[in-house]
Amino acid sequence: MYMVKIMKLSLIIPCYNEASNIAPFFQKVTSTFSGHISNFELIFVNDGSKDDTLKNLKEILSSTNVDMKIINFSRNFGKEAAMFAGIKESSGDYVSLIDADLQQDPEYIVKMVEFLDENKDYDCVAAYQDERHESAIKIFFKNCFYKLINRLAEVDFKNGASDFRTFRRPVADAIISMGEYHRFSKGIFPWVGFETYYMPYDTNARLSGTSSWSLIKLFKYAFEGIVAFTTTPLKISSWIGGLSSITALIYMIVVIVQKLAFSIAIPGYATIVVLILFFNGLQLMTLGIIGEYLSKTYIQTKKRPIYITKEILENKKPR
Ligand code: UDP
Ligand code: MG
Repeated sequence: MYMVKIMKLSLIIPCYNEASNIAPFFQKVTSTFSGHISNFELIFVNDGSKDDTLKNLKEILSSTNVDMKIINFSRNFGKEAAMFAGIKESSGDYVSLIDADLQQDPEYIVKMVEFLDENKDYDCVAAYQDERHESAIKIFFKNCFYKLINRLAEVDFKNGASDFRTFRRPVADAIISMGEYHRFSKGIFPWVGFETYYMPYDTNARLSGTSSWSLIKLFKYAFEGIVAFTTTPLKISSWIGGLSSITALIYMIVVIVQKLAFSIAIPGYATIVVLILFFNGLQLMTLGIIGEYLSKTYIQTKKRPIYITKEILENKKPR
């Protein structure tokens, strides 16, 4: 008898202090999937939560017959590490990433899976936000960041694209093959390539708790991205150095001509102080940039694991 293979979906949910969101999230996902997606597993990654997230996950695990796994980290390693661990543990033909706070409606996962089912040419569907419900200042800085990084990096970063997405197995394997310690998924997704369809969507407000993103954190994150995906800042010092040498040369000629031809005495104290301060500042800044790259290289050469698992709990019977 000819059997149509039912594609399996792995849904990965990074969780950090999401205790009160776990049960509503589970409820919402299972009710949304019913009738649409029959073969799926839920992979919750407890990223060192300090509240009852793990306890609530265990409660659901013991009472459901939905395929479910809990990857329990030994401490907080960050969302990037949690997503990586989830993808590594997944076995589905499709893999989806979603947040635990219900800001992202699981209905979109159904839409993404349907899209991939119908469009074999595409390997990935990424949700992207047309309109942002954020402060004008955050939107401004985000736009600046995308302009800058798209100028510097070799791959295209799409403004508004999130890591709320669904992709096929080969994309998942490609992501796993990228073993870098400083993970920046906004760059990893375009870097691995594959055909990506951007599906417009709108986020909801967080169900409960607060987002962990402050403006300063966003700045740091943006800088991480630039360091991870371009080496252009390293070249800035050569450019500035070259430019200032030429300027100094021209100024030297001017000074000599002034002295010899017009006998103009050269008052210099203020100029010298300003120049010393200015160029010392530039030197320290460029040293700092080199330091950023060097420190990343240093950490990477230690080959530390991206995350450490304390335990993996699952309810699936071994087949
Ligand atoms: N998260 C995580 N580890 C962290 C921070 C966040 O696993 O160190 C998870 C969090 O539980 C949520 C998702 O990542 O499921 C997105 O986090 P958050 O809602 O704070 O970010 P935002 O929605 O504001 O981008
Ligand atoms: Mg959120």
